[in-house]
Amino acid sequence: MPEIKLYDTTLRDGAQGEGISYSVMDKIIIARELDRLGVHFIEAGWPGSNPKDMEFYQKMGKSRLKNARLVAFGSTRRPHSKAKDDNNLRAFLKSGASFVTIFGKTWDLHVRDVLKTTLDENLEMIKDTVAFLVSKGLAVFYDAEHFFIAYHANKEYSLKCLRVAQDAGARAVVLCDTNGGMITSGVFRVIKEVRPQIKVDLGIHCHNDSGLAVANTLAAVEAGADIVQGTINGYGERCGNADLIPIIANLKLKLGINCISSVNLKELARVSHLISEISNMKPRNDQPYVGVSAFAHKGGVHINAVMKNPDTYEHVKPESVGNRRRILMSELGGKTSILLRAKDLELDLTKDDPRTKKILKLLQSLEHRGYHFEAAEASLELLIKKALNQYKKFFELEGFRVVVEKLSDKKITTEAIIKLKVKGIKEHTAAEGDGPVNALDNALRKALKDFYPTLSKMHLSDFKVRVLDEKAGTAAPVRVLIESEDEKDLWSTIGVSENIIEASWQALVDSVEYKLLKDEKK
Ligand SMILES: [Zn+2]
Repeated sequence: MPEIKLYDTTLRDGAQGEGISYSVMDKIIIARELDRLGVHFIEAGWPGSNPKDMEFYQKMGKSRLKNARLVAFGSTRRPHSKAKDDNNLRAFLKSGASFVTIFGKTWDLHVRDVLKTTLDENLEMIKDTVAFLVSKGLAVFYDAEHFFIAYHANKEYSLKCLRVAQDAGARAVVLCDTNGGMITSGVFRVIKEVRPQIKVDLGIHCHNDSGLAVANTLAAVEAGADIVQGTINGYGERCGNADLIPIIANLKLKLGINCISSVNLKELARVSHLISEISNMKPRNDQPYVGVSAFAHKGGVHINAVMKNPDTYEHVKPESVGNRRRILMSELGGKTSILLRAKDLELDLTKDDPRTKKILKLLQSLEHRGYHFEAAEASLELLIKKALNQYKKFFELEGFRVVVEKLSDKKITTEAIIKLKVKGIKEHTAAEGDGPVNALDNALRKALKDFYPTLSKMHLSDFKVRVLDEKAGTAAPVRVLIESEDEKDLWSTIGVSENIIEASWQALVDSVEYKLLKDEKK
């Protein structure tokens, strides 16, 4: 099996993405995850540019990585100076990194207009910088910034830049589509032409401004590139870098090119989600291979076929990348999805059972009103059980009242008062909260706690509100999704109403009932 080296730059180029900022500890956790995944090189920052990156390199020096090499990043020396006198370059030596990537100019326009120096001096800068670092025992990669435009503008000069880096001792030269504007066929052609003219390894670094970073990277590999640069989840400046997640999966599963082991490939979904968590970026549901929707089937025809043979609508096995198949409940899903769900719940239900039809009708009318059971599997379970008479009421609401009070410029306060009947006994409780939903939650628990002590083990972990028809203004229905958890599980419930308190109450009651039903089974 041919092999490609993976070069991750999440911690450097990825950290340039809007909304991303890593602490030193974040960086350490990410680096260890990447190492475990089997990435070969981890570019982690610019030790000369700030103390945070310097601290990272020094700390990482102590925690040994198993597979990966840490790579420091920086630029060529300034025009008309000496590499050995350059403070940034000297910082590499202090950082303890044994691999370093140096980026430099290859586009004649940049040399003249940005560096404001001669083409010859730029070649001298590349040569002097690479040779100096190599003489100090470092392995050097040369990142040829804007290479594809440079090659188009002045083929001879751009190739000269690569050769100078190579002859000065660089381990590899990396062709960068810095502006991310390349089209796939263009990348393929250039790599095909450059490959035979370079003796050392060739790397590819693509940005996603044309929406083609992954495709361009794979085309580069097919044309002869040996090292692939990218970031986890495609984080990076502007539209991001090439996303290593689908790149890794495509290399392994589609092109038969080795990069990480098949065992580690099963970690792909987990690593992607963990790094999005640390990066404080919402995971993309539709992210190829690892998104929660990547193997989610919704259309009735699709569901039917997938149940007979998953290959009908799945391009790879979800488990191969650590993902799972999901059958979505929806009005489009029809009977099959209800039957599957019932099977999950070990409920006896057949296609021709009149109750199946009844549930389907009920689901369709609820979805029409704005319920969305794909995101609220616990509410769906309750709904099916109610329809099958496999559910009993844990309590009966007689009424509630929520009072929100603000007096002049004092702090706003909220109190909820609930009256309900539990096991034949009337309960009347009041509780305060940070807001109406929190106050209701507190009052409900207070009323139920003596009857159902396990409720103290659950708490609400997320609360989402969405206005369903924005145009209708305040009269629009709202959908409330509540996520709850206890020491073992996580479940979500839904409520829909034109009144946000009513919608929240529905989701809250479903959450509590789900918990009680779950505990009763044990
Ligand atoms: Zn970049």
